[in-house]
Amino acid sequence: QTNSADPSTPVIELSEVDFGYTSTPVVEDVSLRVDPGEYVAVVGPNGSGKSTLMRLALGLLRPDRGTARLFDQPAHRFDDGARVGYVAQRASASTEMPITVREVVKMGRFPHVRFGRLDEADWAIVDRALETVGMHAFAGRRITNLSGGQRQRAFIARALAGEADLLVLDEPTVGVDAESVEAFYELLESLNDSGITVLLIEHDLGAVTAHADRIVCLNREVYFDGTADAFVESDALGRAFGAAAAIVGDRR
Ligand code: ADP
Repeated sequence: QTNSADPSTPVIELSEVDFGYTSTPVVEDVSLRVDPGEYVAVVGPNGSGKSTLMRLALGLLRPDRGTARLFDQPAHRFDDGARVGYVAQRASASTEMPITVREVVKMGRFPHVRFGRLDEADWAIVDRALETVGMHAFAGRRITNLSGGQRQRAFIARALAGEADLLVLDEPTVGVDAESVEAFYELLESLNDSGITVLLIEHDLGAVTAHADRIVCLNREVYFDGTADAFVESDALGRAFGAAAAIVGDRR
């Protein structure tokens, strides 16, 4: 079933979504449709609602108004988790476990196997995923003994082992050393070229304008939704942030 999504069905479809954790809305009247094979980057300053938008898209939060659909199901009822690979900012908590890279990637197969038992074909998929992300040589290493960039690659490999056709990444290169960042984005781009839909939340405007097909600029509302080139030409940044410097100077 890998990457065999119906090309006419949106992967993500948010329609006129409002959401607030309290009475203050943090997402307002947001509509966003991501089609199979797209590479969409969501940009905006800290607190602009990017992570919230992602949680709404994945059904982890429910809209106060409007609708959220994931692979043509109401997002909160979506139950085919293997289709979605999620890479968190600074892979932490789960990475404190004393397990190897191969074991992490193996977990990606769990939705596809019975009783956690992988057969030869499953292991072949695990190995291929490790190779795709360039982590085969590190398969036996503890996940804790990796650089930030290597760890993020391992989590991408886990998603690939699960045959995810959507990758959602929340500022995946925070804490990744500068030389590895470009290679990381090249990997994402090649996965997208192979048909995987990518939704990337990102601070680093240089990275997204270089790699993403489409940019959504958010600050509670959508200020821009279009190509990277059009985004660079537009005044969306200025409008969304008051000052263009805000987003660039906003790195943690
Ligand atoms: P971003 O990802 O762009 O930094 P977030 O979606 O994390 O923005 O946050 C948007 C707003 O919602 C911020 O004002 C933030 O403080 C608030 N917020 C985020 N998560 C929660 C939460 N779990 N409970 C209450 N407020 C939250």
